[in-house]
Amino acid sequence: MNLHAIYHRPKSNYCYAYDKNTVHIRIRSAKGELTKVSLIYGDKYNWENTKTELDMNYICCDNLFDYYMLSINPHNNRLSYYFIVEKDFERYYYTEWGFFKSVEQKDLYLHFFNYPYINEVDIHSVPEWVKDAIFYQIFPERFFNGDKSNDPENITKWGSLPESHSFYGGDLKGIINKLDYLEELGINALYLTPIFHASTNHKYDTTDYMKIDPHFGDLDTVKELVSKCHKKGIRIILDAVFNHCGYYFEPFQDVLQKGEESIYYNWFHIKNTPIKTNPPNYHSFGFTPQMPKLNTENPEVMKYLLNVAAYWLKEVDIDGWRLDVANEVDHSFWREFRKVVKSIKKDAYIIGEIWHDSLPWLMGDQFDSIMNYPVTRACFEYFAYEKIDSKEFKEFINSTIIRNTTQVNEVMFNLLDSHDTSRFITRCGGDFRKLILAMIFQLTYIGVPCIYYGTEIGIKGGDDPDCRRTMEWDEKKWNKDLLKLYRSMIYLRKNHESLRRGSFKWINGISDIIGYIRKTEEEEIIILINNNDEDRKVNLNTGVKKIANLLDKNEIYSSDNNSSNIELTVNQRDFKIFITKY
Ligand code: CA
Repeated sequence: MNLHAIYHRPKSNYCYAYDKNTVHIRIRSAKGELTKVSLIYGDKYNWENTKTELDMNYICCDNLFDYYMLSINPHNNRLSYYFIVEKDFERYYYTEWGFFKSVEQKDLYLHFFNYPYINEVDIHSVPEWVKDAIFYQIFPERFFNGDKSNDPENITKWGSLPESHSFYGGDLKGIINKLDYLEELGINALYLTPIFHASTNHKYDTTDYMKIDPHFGDLDTVKELVSKCHKKGIRIILDAVFNHCGYYFEPFQDVLQKGEESIYYNWFHIKNTPIKTNPPNYHSFGFTPQMPKLNTENPEVMKYLLNVAAYWLKEVDIDGWRLDVANEVDHSFWREFRKVVKSIKKDAYIIGEIWHDSLPWLMGDQFDSIMNYPVTRACFEYFAYEKIDSKEFKEFINSTIIRNTTQVNEVMFNLLDSHDTSRFITRCGGDFRKLILAMIFQLTYIGVPCIYYGTEIGIKGGDDPDCRRTMEWDEKKWNKDLLKLYRSMIYLRKNHESLRRGSFKWINGISDIIGYIRKTEEEEIIILINNNDEDRKVNLNTGVKKIANLLDKNEIYSSDNNSSNIELTVNQRDFKIFITKY
């Protein structure tokens, strides 16, 4: 048995409280190796009377490992446990102290893994509404110009290709004016990139955190936007840029003028004086002199920024924050941030911008979710570039599932593209069939889908600044079939709880297409996606005798009388979504 590959660790993604009565236990082993894994658990203060043995369920594999899982309801909130791992006739106890052929009963107590007590305050509780949300991301400068009176000077013609410093005049009034469009699309949550006073078009260089950018509107405009959104059942989250400020942020300007004499000197990470900007002798975002890094370890800075976070929640009633460059800000700051935000709005949604494995931020004391770029990347590689096959895609997706707790996976912010990536359709070389397959995956996968403005009508664009083109409002230039499909899929997701909250399970043995089942107690939905240039015959053997296509109710398949085997074809670069109870 490959003992080196077997892994478990309490109070991590391998063992965590899902709710106040439930602990999830996972264990890893070498792929294709174990024939049985058992969990023996109980209350260490009453071991003999509470001891329970259960088989663990195989859940999935990635490229190297198998994973098993079990959901436990501990007695008296306390949980002590060990595993028995078996490969044919080979059998080991796996305990915190290692692997043993046998363990004396009297020694067991010392060997246990422990989840000592489920303390409710430590459980990562995520906002329920997020599980039903379909987000739409807007880059306000490029969505719609609703108020020409606030336009910057020398704006570029709407529709022309953007350069790094282009301004087009888009604003908050523009979003208000287009709320009917968004409502008709069916989305029920908005994420806006920064709207606070800043000098650039993207506003990631904040000059004044307490003021709406005058090119976008003012306090009344944002209040009008949020209240109109709320009336339509649309939640709205804003972008908090707390890793760094803008060059023209008053405290930084004060430091530039007064050097070490400035009361704000310790608000930044200044290496030495006099201060230079090219290259900067202070820490900044990347090496950008226009974005000096804030010293969030300084209690004054923390107090200032937490007040900013609280102000917009209270004053404008926003529903959460997306946190820019969240991984470069200290954990202590984010722990305080969460306390402040959740004390004002218990169900505010906190999303970190982190592009990599993020478990240390996602254990319940900091963020609810991240922008799920690891899954975005898997979609690029599989659907757009076809650099990986369906097996590799599934294994990579599985590895991202295992990285995090179940409650985090349920509210992961899943995106195909954003203001920081080239557009998905452009990565597909303009092949809309590929974009559609990725979108079908995104809208039927675990987590929260977010549509980047314009993706639904086929807007193209390479890397920044090209991915920030103006929204197209001339309907003649829309890809209307794509828009219609987006609307249908959003409608499906909103009308089928299994697509939002159901379990997720891959269907195996269907060759090189991907298929999975989303399931609740009430319903079961089967999704089949063929990202090949050839049609594929599929033998579905999921125990179901009759299925109907959710997007075409006339398409019904039944198994023959003796089996539950259903034969069907998924056309090249096409998909099918079936419901098994209808
Ligand atoms: Ca304007």
